[in-house]
Amino acid sequence: MNQSFISTTDSVSKLIQELNKLPGIGPKSAQRLAYYLLRASGEQATQLAEAISSVKQKTKLCSVCFNVTESDLCSICRSDQRDQTKICIVEQPQDVLALEHTKIYNGLYHVLHGAISPTEGVGADDVRIKELLQRLEGGSVTEVILATNTNLEGEQTAMYLSKLISPLGIKVTRLARGLPFGTELEYADDVTLTRAIEGRQEF
Ligand SMILES: [Zn+2]
Repeated sequence: MNQSFISTTDSVSKLIQELNKLPGIGPKSAQRLAYYLLRASGEQATQLAEAISSVKQKTKLCSVCFNVTESDLCSICRSDQRDQTKICIVEQPQDVLALEHTKIYNGLYHVLHGAISPTEGVGADDVRIKELLQRLEGGSVTEVILATNTNLEGEQTAMYLSKLISPLGIKVTRLARGLPFGTELEYADDVTLTRAIEGRQEF
């Protein structure tokens, strides 16, 4: 792609290259965004740059659920309004956002940061399963909702977790029954997600 940027300056071409690395941004979109920013006010460009840098500096993972937070505990784990007997297990922090958006679920979360995938060499120890089991040892959780994606890795992970958790006497439900196979949770619409939570079935 370098040839097409020969006519641009080094800094513009660098910006296009960086934008092009973002998911869903192809060379054309990267070019369009770069020229948009070139025309934008200095203030807007600075705000964007600061937002990107502060998200890297200020955020960390919640020490309990591994959601993204700016303090030791995320706002969900800190809240006394949440149902402490339910934990919804998701693959990524953005899945928490998608489920919270439906406003239908009031329990806690656990973010695995991935899914088990033998073909890609991701095992149970590479995601936050050990930490989940430690949470369950507390004994206050009565239901675990498996909200991993409905693709192969998500299903394998759900199956694996179910085998681990069911023997503990905790009810295990699977969220995704209403979702078509291959769905990534973060892209599901609110109506579908709401139905999927309400219609969750024992797994
Ligand atoms: Zn948390």
